[in-house]
Amino acid sequence: MIVAMQERATEDQIDAVIDAMVESGVNVHRTTGATQTILAGVGPTAGVELRRFELLSGVLSVHRITSPYKLAGRAFRPEGTVVEFANGAKIGGEQVGIIAGPCAIENREQIFATAACVKAAGGGFLRGGAFKPRSSPYAFQGLGIPGLQLMHEAAEANGLLTVSEVMEISQIEAMLPYTDCFQVGARNMQNFNLLRELGQVRKPVLLKRGIAATIEELLLSSEYIMSGGNYDVILCERGIRTYETSTRNTMDIAAIPVVKKLSHLPIVADPSHGTGRRDMVPAMAKAAVAAGADAILVEIHPNADKAASDAAQTLYLDQFEKLVGELRVIAAAVGRSL
Ligand code: PEP
Ligand code: MN
Repeated sequence: MIVAMQERATEDQIDAVIDAMVESGVNVHRTTGATQTILAGVGPTAGVELRRFELLSGVLSVHRITSPYKLAGRAFRPEGTVVEFANGAKIGGEQVGIIAGPCAIENREQIFATAACVKAAGGGFLRGGAFKPRSSPYAFQGLGIPGLQLMHEAAEANGLLTVSEVMEISQIEAMLPYTDCFQVGARNMQNFNLLRELGQVRKPVLLKRGIAATIEELLLSSEYIMSGGNYDVILCERGIRTYETSTRNTMDIAAIPVVKKLSHLPIVADPSHGTGRRDMVPAMAKAAVAAGADAILVEIHPNADKAASDAAQTLYLDQFEKLVGELRVIAAAVGRSL
């Protein structure tokens, strides 16, 4: 159930409603918007008499939520979520974010050159995998924590934030000092134990859509994180597997407006994994910004063809700089900045 409070509801009125909701057996999640407080009651609400809440002072309206995702649904935060980072950077606001970096952190030279390029292009986030989920156990698996330390150092030197994939619960603690945003990869979108644990972390989580996941399943996975109290979830469309073989995955651009309609969470587009082809990344990045993406995540590398992983879809640094210039024009055309 959703209880929307009146604009001028007092803290005492809000507390009284929360107490009444808890008494009726639901867990209460509170969100305080610019103008209004919304209380979501999650749990067995079938037998709860909603009219009882409508009569409490300070209450504007009460609704039963029929969608299976209670906290990720638009109704919980009608104005949309803006995820704010420690340095003030935001994803989900008026400005379109840029998250760029290699598929995998490989060495100092590579990650420092990449960080300087991301900064120069006006990007705010440096990405790079330290723990890589590779289809083959014989492929490069990533440098682990020493790699993450290198990326953190490169990011700090350039005033950037770091985004890196966490593959299992045991990695979270060691990654915390070096990671500003935990990426959950496509292969782990339904690793529910990992999602629950990230619900306890107080750092944003970038949750990628699974290779064969529906949008509803993506939103339900975000619900696992949010139900633990971590509301800073950023969704990511990275292409899904279909019968089409011309591209590595099928980039589902339509998922962007669908997510915007169903959920308040920001949505990022990853045209690198979405196409698997360097020559197609710019077109899909531009389409994604036009479609309303809150940030673009792209794989870039100073020596892209020689990248240890995902070389075929990785942009050279000059290609990335050119792309950001083009994205700026598209962003302005749809009423946003970059
Ligand atoms: C990645 O970002 O490098 C990655 C492994 O992505 P995905 O989980 O989308 O395949
Ligand atoms: Mn990759």
